[in-house]
Amino acid sequence: MAAIWIDIDLDAVAANYREVTSLIRPAARCMAVVKADAYGLGAVEVARTLAAEGCEAFAVTTVEEGLNLRRHGLEGLILVLGPTLPQEWRKAIEGGLQLSLADRQSISRLDELCRQEGLKAAVHLKLETGMGRTGMRPEELPEVAELLLKASHLEVAGVYTHFARAAQRDHSYTRGQYEKFRDGVAALERYGIKSQWKHVCNSAAFLDYPEYHHDFVRIGTLLIGHMPGPGFGRQLTLKDPWAAKAKVLYVHRVPKGTYVGYQSIYKTKTETTLAVIGAGYADGFGVVPHFVPQGLWDLLKIFVKNTAALFGVTLGTEKIKVHGQTVPVAGKIGMQLTVLDLGQLESLPGDEVEIPLRRTLANPRLLRQYWRQGRIYAKRTLTEEGVLEVQAE
Ligand SMILES: *Cc1c(COP(=O)(O)O)cnc(C)c1O
Repeated sequence: MAAIWIDIDLDAVAANYREVTSLIRPAARCMAVVKADAYGLGAVEVARTLAAEGCEAFAVTTVEEGLNLRRHGLEGLILVLGPTLPQEWRKAIEGGLQLSLADRQSISRLDELCRQEGLKAAVHLKLETGMGRTGMRPEELPEVAELLLKASHLEVAGVYTHFARAAQRDHSYTRGQYEKFRDGVAALERYGIKSQWKHVCNSAAFLDYPEYHHDFVRIGTLLIGHMPGPGFGRQLTLKDPWAAKAKVLYVHRVPKGTYVGYQSIYKTKTETTLAVIGAGYADGFGVVPHFVPQGLWDLLKIFVKNTAALFGVTLGTEKIKVHGQTVPVAGKIGMQLTVLDLGQLESLPGDEVEIPLRRTLANPRLLRQYWRQGRIYAKRTLTEEGVLEVQAE
């Protein structure tokens, strides 16, 4: 019996896919982005669910992620979005993955490798238009085209770029990036490089710019049930497939003035009931990504929160659902144990509570239970060899 686990509703993932595809322009298809273990849900199970819904294209960040999908029988197009190292290329191509090429040197190196090994590689050219991460810059394109014309073992399957500010709805920046992309594609075509597909949209751009859908839209966030940011609300109805649960392991009634947890930062204000659950920061619980303030208001909020914490007042702590009611965490979250202040609420050891666990920060070793039609159909656990294993129920 696990003290903490995650329930994942694959019917919700399938429903989100249908919502997304209902908004795609007829000429375009959905490339499901299942990187980072499908944002924590489980890449193999999510990809299988989407494939059953008719999805034929997937994207990941690394070669390893792509090969993992192949090992589990996923067919169709698998694009590796991230930069890759030459030593990974052969197994990527043999595994039928498509690679992103983002610099000039890789073109001739990859072509040379394919020539030696008797392989042919389908590649996607990544254009740098304002993300500042990877990609070919406009001034490189004449040489890129020249190299590609000579590269007889490479086939340009796609040309793409990635938006930096689509989720912030910075339209002028996003349109500027798009214009650079369009100009880049036109330049490549002038030099004789025509690609099969073009794709630029992530979830946010997909919603805001139907005119940019082209051949594929690369969707991650929406499929796992999140909106890419505030203000995208009304366009589609998403279901949340994710629920992290923990068990109450211990309950005790304590008097007013009881200190709770490390550093005694929490002191009960009345007689109350405390419950200990089997979840902590080793599971990813209470771990938050580094937060960069967006403007003065955010900065002020961080300042107020930190100042309050200095005086022993914790604002905006994690809220836990016990029997449908929300209760606060008492004190600091521990490595694997966390205390809840139940007040007058009653609970017994063995009860289930729902905890806010961020998908991408949830420890991958946690048990994941996959649900379909109201029943658990598979479970994923970590074996002793450290391999994630899915077992049908
Ligand atoms: C992660 C990623 C996406 C998907 O973005 P979402 O906003 O999660 O839909 C698309 N394209 C690239 C290049 C990415 O890295």
